Amino acid sequence: MPRRFGAYGGAYVPETLIPALQELEVAWQEARRDPRFRDELRRWSRDLGGRPTPLYFAEHLTRRGRGAEIWLKREDLVHGGAHKFNNALGQGLLARRMGKHRLIAETGAGQHGVATAMLGAALGIPTEVYMGRRDMERQAPNVQRMRLLGATVHPVTSGSETLKDAINEALRDWITNVRTTHYVLGSAVGPHPFPSLVCDFQSVIGREIRRQSVSRWGKLPDLVVACVGGGSNAIGTFHPLLNTAVELLGVEAGGAGRGPGASSLLRGSPGILHGAYTYVLQDSDGQVRDTESVSAGLDYAGVGPEHAMLRDSGRVRYESVRDRDALAAFHWVAADEGILPALEPAHAIYAAVRAARRRPKRERIVVTLSGRGDKDLQVVLGHDTGADR
Ligand SMILES: *Cc1c(COP(=O)(O)O)cnc(C)c1O
Repeated sequence: MPRRFGAYGGAYVPETLIPALQELEVAWQEARRDPRFRDELRRWSRDLGGRPTPLYFAEHLTRRGRGAEIWLKREDLVHGGAHKFNNALGQGLLARRMGKHRLIAETGAGQHGVATAMLGAALGIPTEVYMGRRDMERQAPNVQRMRLLGATVHPVTSGSETLKDAINEALRDWITNVRTTHYVLGSAVGPHPFPSLVCDFQSVIGREIRRQSVSRWGKLPDLVVACVGGGSNAIGTFHPLLNTAVELLGVEAGGAGRGPGASSLLRGSPGILHGAYTYVLQDSDGQVRDTESVSAGLDYAGVGPEHAMLRDSGRVRYESVRDRDALAAFHWVAADEGILPALEPAHAIYAAVRAARRRPKRERIVVTLSGRGDKDLQVVLGHDTGADR
């Protein structure tokens, strides 16, 4: 399991956390070789998670693009409504195997908190979730969901009262309670081994895309697109395709288009955030900048360190999409396909349609539809966008 991705990654954490990170790495290395664990993971993914998810031909969206075919990888159909389940399940099973009897998690929009609360309930492990107080107000329905699922939600009132502060608070809790507690980190970020661990659990997305495209068309897609917040659905989509000729495109949030939005790879610079060396939106003094995006799940100043490497090497291309274009794509998918996408993958869908217009009809584009849009209805209804651009 790589500790670094080129210059990026590593574990810049207080001394007290090092044994816990090592314990986690060893536990995962043993578990992934254990056929019983792999079988357990497969069974829960299928029976509770609903995997495998379909690969869906978006015929009307394709017609809108007037070029390459557009296919959707339906992670919105995973239990809980987003890909977050894949990672929460893997880490939950691993925590149980390690004999931990308490789970903690951070959450921004609330999707990862809900996924962890679901797994905590299903596995019978008490769960506590840290969430910025401002996010709790913005995402009240997810706070209620977590509580109904039996989790305790702690409001975080430091800093900007959002995701970055919730991660700090969860790390602080973990430092105090490492012996009894597993920290279920929600994206491919943070200190080693989290970026690799989360990538492993999310790679089920890319493996299914590989298998399903070969069985549908006898070959791999020409282009695969995913949105990038911390980067977990994207790395899980891309990783199994890195050693193929498939073109890969990651899409960051451009925000309103005036500042850097939440585009850490395109507008940030290398620095340390939450224990990893990676691209960070920071000012010249290294202060982390406030991010801004219509979608809470992409609203993060850092990004997983493997993406930092893939950006520098050019193996993955990254683009950004503005709020208004993501909102337009939301309406396209709703009206064209009868699917309400989350605003995060709406960014990826906009970029996919833009790419499809420039590519021949015989090519195929797969977009990871990372989650469903029920959580975003208030935001969408509060914006007035034309659906017919
Ligand atoms: C959390 C979330 C994201 C962003 O997180 P990544 O780690 O970048 O995948 C994207 N889409 C949805 C639906 C989410 O809930």
